[in-house]
Amino acid sequence: GRIRGYGAAPRDMIGIARSLEAAPRIRAILQEDEDRGQVESLARGLGDHSEVVTLIRTAIDENSSASVGDGTVISPGFSSELDSVRSAARGAQNYMASLERQERERTGIKSLKVGYNKVFGYYIEVSKPNLQRVPDDYVRRQTLVGGERFITSEMKEYESQILSAQDQIAEMESALFRQVCRQVADVAVPILSAADSMAHVDVLASLGEVALSQGYARPSLDDGEVLEIRKGRHPVVENALPPGSFVPNDTRLSNGDDQLIILTGPNMAGKSTYIRQVAIIALMAQVGSFVPAEAATIGLVDRIFTRVGLQDDVAVGQSTFMVEMLETASILNHATSRSLIVLDEIGRGTSTYDGLSIARAVAEHVHNHPILGCKTLFATHYHELTHLANTLPRARNFTVSVSEDRGVVVFLHRIVPGGADRSYGIHVAQLAGLPGSVINRAWEVLQELENGTTPGSGHRQRRSKAPPQGQLRLIGSAPDVFQELLSLDVSAMTPLQAINKLYELQASARDSADS
Ligand code: ATP
Repeated sequence: GRIRGYGAAPRDMIGIARSLEAAPRIRAILQEDEDRGQVESLARGLGDHSEVVTLIRTAIDENSSASVGDGTVISPGFSSELDSVRSAARGAQNYMASLERQERERTGIKSLKVGYNKVFGYYIEVSKPNLQRVPDDYVRRQTLVGGERFITSEMKEYESQILSAQDQIAEMESALFRQVCRQVADVAVPILSAADSMAHVDVLASLGEVALSQGYARPSLDDGEVLEIRKGRHPVVENALPPGSFVPNDTRLSNGDDQLIILTGPNMAGKSTYIRQVAIIALMAQVGSFVPAEAATIGLVDRIFTRVGLQDDVAVGQSTFMVEMLETASILNHATSRSLIVLDEIGRGTSTYDGLSIARAVAEHVHNHPILGCKTLFATHYHELTHLANTLPRARNFTVSVSEDRGVVVFLHRIVPGGADRSYGIHVAQLAGLPGSVINRAWEVLQELENGTTPGSGHRQRRSKAPPQGQLRLIGSAPDVFQELLSLDVSAMTPLQAINKLYELQASARDSADS
């Protein structure tokens, strides 16, 4: 675009030449592929650009400066006219360069200097004590504190040669650069087609590389209504965890039976990760990528709708809850029976009853609406929603399994049929470093709520049990030391606290290595 508009810099030209030089090598690699049908058109699109590459390479100096007109952009040998002006200028420059030595010899003034400034041009500077040795042909131009500046007529002649040559060079260089731009712009269409092919090759090669390095599988795509994933993984979360520690999970969604998955489970169990991974796998499969799973069959979806994460937009007066509702409204108004919907904790931005009511109504709508009934994953902390499976024939309850043994909670990150009955929210709060007094008080309040001794209690079923010894440890499939490390606010710790914590972490790492 810049070349067509004559706004290109020399480095744009060099960039184009370098890219086009790669085209034959890329084509050769593509032609090694036995499955020629797939890559034939990409190879064709790359084209042959040897002429334009030769033009740029002979015209533009790779090490030239950024601006056209300073004489460094057009390579020597490209224009004989430009070369002869350059060599004339060089002669005059050489004269100036040797003038100082010559004049020192002629006058015997060792401190004589030749300089240049924008106002007076080139000058000869002589210090005060040496002024009596100045020859007659020196013409005084400027008096300084410590000496005087002179010129000679010969010097002025060379100076004007240099200056006019510079003007000429600038003009010629700009004209030549424009001419090269024009010639390159003439072949813009094939260059753009090469760029397009390269972009495609880039995408495919990147997807191929990641598929190979991360052990992805080739999904099967069809027009059916089933989305089935065996041992699916979240491509990003899996990379953030120690190798091998991500727990893969299966998924089956189908408009006909397993249409609506209600996923409950404790905090930190992996609900969001799971529902997002399903959406990501569907998306990857549909853009032509292999997927992070052992196998996947994806019935094509027309759109993937997500309502995940919390954000507000105070700048335009939208609260967190308002944004959540706007997004939900948009999903319900635009999804079709061929869509995939991923909803993460709809309704949490408002009071429990309001939130639960909205969540339930949304789930029922997605299930029952005649033009919806699409594959939906619904992660929620409202355990009450698990009752929906009793009344909605295509709703299925799933939960993330947790094992709890004598006060030690282990997140297994395995998605299993069934509903959760606890949140372990206070445990997670403890892990995050909330003050002990707050945690203890939270347990008290929870107990009061569950016993019905506090107003507003009694509407929710059992959530969490106070830990047996007041101290409860949480362990993920990654070692708990890792979890604890993640929760540390290192910048808020004193060096002493840090060393104590390190000591403690090492002790627990040793314990778990022993056990
Ligand atoms: P909350 O209800 O608190 O939002 P959540 O159930 O949505 O929590 P996620 O945010 O999905 O939980 O996961 C919490 C962390 O658990 C992740 O950051 C990741 O480290 C770990 N995790 C999630 N899924 C897996 C998995 N399948 N295998 C291993 N680790 C996982």
